[in-house]
Amino acid sequence: MAVWPRATHPRIRSDVQVMVLFMVTDLQIAVRKIASINPATGEVLREFECASEAEVHAAVARAHAAQATWAELGVRKRIAVLREFQDLVHQRKSEIAKLVCREAGKPYVEALLTEVLVVLDAARFLIDNAYRLLRDEPVPHGNLTMKTKSGRLVREPYGVIGIISPWNYPLSIPATESLAGLVAGNAVVVKPSEFTSLAAIELASLLHQVGVPRDVFQVIVGDGATGAALLNSALDKLVFTGSVPTGRRIAQSAADRLLPVALELGGKDPMLVLDDADVEIASRGAVWGAFVNAGQACLSVERCYVHRSLYEPFLEACTRQAQQLRVGNGMDPEIDVGPMIHQRQLLNVESQVEESRAQGARVMAGGTRLPEIGPNHYAPTVLADVTHEMRIMREETFGPVLPVMPFDRDDEAVRLANDSEYGLAASVWTRDRARGEALARRIHAGTVMVNDVVSCFGISEAPHGGVKASGIGRSHGRFGLEEMVRIKYVASDRLPGMEKIWWYRYGSAFARQMEGLLDAQFARRLGHRVRGAARAAGALKGKKRG
Ligand code: NAD
Repeated sequence: MAVWPRATHPRIRSDVQVMVLFMVTDLQIAVRKIASINPATGEVLREFECASEAEVHAAVARAHAAQATWAELGVRKRIAVLREFQDLVHQRKSEIAKLVCREAGKPYVEALLTEVLVVLDAARFLIDNAYRLLRDEPVPHGNLTMKTKSGRLVREPYGVIGIISPWNYPLSIPATESLAGLVAGNAVVVKPSEFTSLAAIELASLLHQVGVPRDVFQVIVGDGATGAALLNSALDKLVFTGSVPTGRRIAQSAADRLLPVALELGGKDPMLVLDDADVEIASRGAVWGAFVNAGQACLSVERCYVHRSLYEPFLEACTRQAQQLRVGNGMDPEIDVGPMIHQRQLLNVESQVEESRAQGARVMAGGTRLPEIGPNHYAPTVLADVTHEMRIMREETFGPVLPVMPFDRDDEAVRLANDSEYGLAASVWTRDRARGEALARRIHAGTVMVNDVVSCFGISEAPHGGVKASGIGRSHGRFGLEEMVRIKYVASDRLPGMEKIWWYRYGSAFARQMEGLLDAQFARRLGHRVRGAARAAGALKGKKRG
């Protein structure tokens, strides 16, 4: 017996999760089903059964068994595999972008630039840098007492890394994290969003084709419960990207077993337009930053603060541009803005906009659904006269909405930008770069861009991640690679036959010698140091030398 909870048939449903209860003999076993649905049309692209807890645990066990051989291969050989992967992705760029377009709804050109290009560039970064960044590193030290020690950092793979990812960048997020995990010698198990399994399956297929063993990179499809099963499996580390509420739950469970986690969570990114900004350029940046991927980007411009002297012309420019945007199916190369991923997301956006309107916000553009275009389309919306008490300025909207508020002084703009539980990214717009960079230092965020928005995600060298509720840890670049390794310090003694000065033979004479040792290193006057060294030298007597 199949029970469809929301509608009679999945082809006409626009939401995704489908629960099917099968009666098997007299036992009732719950088989949870999910589906990839084209958000522009409601067409079901493919249905999947969620991986069960046992299947998840078995996948992680296989990953463990395969990981050692992958690690033994060495970084150079793994880099060679990445080079093949990069080549294959490049050859298949259009096909991959179209798949992402169909499954996530974004315009084709965005799929090319924010998914395929980001993956190619992440591979480029690792191909060029992973060997240097992962090799052993000597650690010179200044402790005179320990001068016989030579230390080095050794970077070891964790073992099996679990990656749980969201739907908004269904290829670039799991791929960038996976490539870093793999090149460092880990096995990787990805649990993609239940809304975008196909993109992750495509990633697996590409990696397997270039020689990554099947058990070293696995995708397990499923919903939140499948994610929870992965979290509770024998992972060595979890990298989670998604919402703050889910991130909190994951951090709590991980704390119980002290599982290391990196959390890339939501944002409420502010854009500050200073009094010397170019209104035309800044408004174009704001419109793109707020509506790219239909506003469903963690780095979207979610709130905009404009100096009062520019407020009206800025609003007028944003309104004009928003009204000119062409909304439609991402597969049509002539459109600018695609649909929202599903009804739940659309309802959230709609409720925030309606609440703001009721509380006095002016809707300058948009503010409505577009059912004539498709089931999940919402018009690019510009709001004026918003206040900081409104939900639209405090909670993540994750939709095509640009709320704009005036400010009078830079200090006030910084205070408003920092008055948020989030701290993912921010932007400052000014003709004076030095002024912008000075203000950037005062904003609580993982990234601050001066005169651009969102784009830092495309710079593979740039660490990506947030402060406050926006997360813990970093992806991308050197710091993203460091998340994939354990640091081991290996200290080797150069005089193995010599007893260490601090070993047992305590007593009052030894205590005076040790006082001398401290004086020798830290007394401010030279004479004290010399006398200290003479006293300390006595401690060496009687220690055997080899
Ligand atoms: P979500 O938190 O609903 O889901 C994310 C993933 O977690 C999905 O794969 C989901 O199946 C899984 N999941 C859900 N419950 C779980 C549980 N109890 N245990 C384990 N896994 C579970 O987020 P979403 O709606 O897919 O994505 C949108 C959110 O992601 C937004 O808040 C956005 O800002 C954030 N995001 C952040 C970044 C970043 O880099 N900081 C990037 C993209 C998206």
